[in-house]
Amino acid sequence: MTFDPDDDDAVRRVLIERREEIETLVAGSKEARDAVELDQSRVGRLSRMDAIQDQAMALETDRRRGLELQRIGSALKRLDAGEYGTCVRCGEEIEPPRLISDPASTICIDCAES
Ligand SMILES: [Zn+2]
Repeated sequence: MTFDPDDDDAVRRVLIERREEIETLVAGSKEARDAVELDQSRVGRLSRMDAIQDQAMALETDRRRGLELQRIGSALKRLDAGEYGTCVRCGEEIEPPRLISDPASTICIDCAES
């Protein structure tokens, strides 16, 4: 998806859309997990190892999604504060292509690479 990182309304739309996407995924995986638990107690088809592995993966996915939601939340705050698109480390503008590929970026390419 492409948008103009200088257009606050467009940025806000993109960030909110992303947040909703992730929230939908989180809700979906929670439902899937509940379904597996039900299935397991009824049929006992998954081995214990598989169940543990699945759970670890699900937790990791949740953790990453939680972090992304936090990043999006703080990007929205920076947007409201008029600080969006400014590198939090060096204060330079974050390159627009970088913002387009990751709208929640907080640092510029130079700082990310150093
Ligand atoms: Zn920087």
